[in-house]
Amino acid sequence: MNRQFSGKVVLLTGASSGIGMATANHLCESGASLMLHGRSGERLKELAGELQAPERVKLHIGDLRDAAYRTALVADTIKAFGKLDVLINNAGIIGSAPLTAMDMGHYDEMMNINLQAPIHLTQLAIPHLEKTSGNVVNVSSVAGLRAFPGIMAYCVSKAGVDQFTRCAALELAPKGIRINAVNPGVVQTKLHLNSGMSDEAYQAFLEHSTTTHPMGRVGQPEEVAQLICFLSSTQAGWITGGTYSIDGGRAQTCAR
Ligand code: NDP
Repeated sequence: MNRQFSGKVVLLTGASSGIGMATANHLCESGASLMLHGRSGERLKELAGELQAPERVKLHIGDLRDAAYRTALVADTIKAFGKLDVLINNAGIIGSAPLTAMDMGHYDEMMNINLQAPIHLTQLAIPHLEKTSGNVVNVSSVAGLRAFPGIMAYCVSKAGVDQFTRCAALELAPKGIRINAVNPGVVQTKLHLNSGMSDEAYQAFLEHSTTTHPMGRVGQPEEVAQLICFLSSTQAGWITGGTYSIDGGRAQTCAR
């Protein structure tokens, strides 16, 4: 087994589901000490039970819309493990609302969770990452790189994540901190169902996605987890400011 994260401390948001859960599994197998964040305590506890590494795995339950909660999350990670090597900003939401009918509350919600929280958590983590020459991985989306109708606020929030990644890379490089983003295409998780999509509509969306992704299939959380783990590892020591597509070729196509 590859233990390349042995001795490393990772703070991972949105570990209670989907891509975050797969990333937690991968990092734990690779020897990392983990502060796993989620809103659902029940699913986090189930995950911790499966990981079977109680001395290396701590759980933190809370809502990332709350700035005071974000501060506590980083502070408690340092309290628990004494340092921070990697921050993974994975938690996020999607929602559809055409521009003509979009409530500004919808826009604020999207920006708060998908963009403000990663920026704030990164700010809070910087003094700790500077001490460890650590790094940040942001989970963006193909929707940060390409335009899609009906999900404008989501697209804007993820484009913000990409540009945040690039700007922060320039500011943080002199401190020895790297920051990168991954841009997945459609991945089979609870993201769309959590946004209110019905099971039937989601099945139709997955079916349609086999035609919109040139490789003819959607992605699995484990595939994205592996890219996140590579970027956060020492193997990626000369990579910063990058936004990496992992989407079966989706970003090379036009919206349809
Ligand atoms: P899931 O819905 O399966 O997981 C989302 C995670 O974010 C959950 O752990 C959820 O916590 C957490 N979360 C959501 N809102 C909040 C909040 N207000 N406060 C704290 N935590 C919150 O989706 P994915 O795994 O697919 O999503 C992970 C990331 O991947 C997101 O940033 C998403 O935008 C991105 N992405 C996903 C794609 C896809 O097709 N699935 C494609 C491209 C990008 P809980 O469940 O405990 O409430």
